[in-house]
Amino acid sequence: MKVGFIGVGNMGGPMCRNIVKRSNHQVNVFDLNPAAVKSCTDLGATAAKSVADATRGADVVMTSLPMPRDVEAVTLGDGGILASIGPGQTYIDLSTNAPSMVKKIGAAMAAKGITMLDAPVSGGTVGAEAATIAIMVGGEKKAFDDALPVLKSFSANVIHMGALGTGTAAKLVNNMLAFCNMAAAAEGLMLGVSAGLDPEKLVEVIANSSGNSNAFKMFSQRALKGQFTPPSFALDLAHKDLHLALELGDELDVPLPQGTATHNLQRMARRMGLGGADSSAILSVYETVLGRTVRL
Ligand code: NAD
Repeated sequence: MKVGFIGVGNMGGPMCRNIVKRSNHQVNVFDLNPAAVKSCTDLGATAAKSVADATRGADVVMTSLPMPRDVEAVTLGDGGILASIGPGQTYIDLSTNAPSMVKKIGAAMAAKGITMLDAPVSGGTVGAEAATIAIMVGGEKKAFDDALPVLKSFSANVIHMGALGTGTAAKLVNNMLAFCNMAAAAEGLMLGVSAGLDPEKLVEVIANSSGNSNAFKMFSQRALKGQFTPPSFALDLAHKDLHLALELGDELDVPLPQGTATHNLQRMARRMGLGGADSSAILSVYETVLGRTVRL
């Protein structure tokens, strides 16, 4: 298959490189950052000159972009995917997008006879590198089945959730859980250190006890080293995801008190200038308030 891949940053980069390394699909890459493009062309992808160039001739056009507004610009904006895509081609968005934006883009694509799949991913940069990420997909089953060979080349867990938008809803639920876990981990580690516990031993105990989670494991590894830059998953993107989950809660009138508290914690960290740091930098809020650190 021919794949057009737009947005090869922290997540799109390793996903794109895995397609090149692990399959015979031909990949044509576009990104605003030339270094990101080079990391893919070095392995055998070709460099597209523009979004339109990456779109033309591809069986599947994929995007992995930061914010809903970026996905909107690249799909519906001037020189965007919609203007260049044609019959027989499928558009797949791997970004964590807003459910309302997925529907808006899906409707515009459908009016031109194009099928869209929303296919957000989970597993972080480590999972993206190892091709173990989960992909939760919404959209027509036939388009999903047709796209499976490409999706499986960079993911071990591809799940069809249902109609367009259901992949995104699943992703927002997952990320809300992950960030709430991280906020609880920050509180727990700070409480333990304040009680005089050795942070390394505390992490070891929790890793083998009922307080453990994937989010705790990833969070504690970064937190104990105080390594918040460069980001694996930027706080600005995590704050965006939680905002989208809360927006969905508003729309469906579902109370989300844990999600709201965690979103406020992220907001405080962003106000401390940590938006570009890793999402685990929420720990700095506690460290600043209490004047002590949680470190090895
Ligand atoms: P990133 O900022 O590292 O990468 C985004 C890439 O898009 C960059 O290389 C940027 O240059 C490029 N880009 C932006 N606007 C563009 C445009 N108009 N045309 C072409 N390229 C453009 O972000 P990321 O961490 O890779 O996240 C991408 C998406 O995946 C986000 O929606 C994020 O929420 C989601 N996500 C991230 C993680 C993670 O751990 N980082 C995990 C799961 C999902």
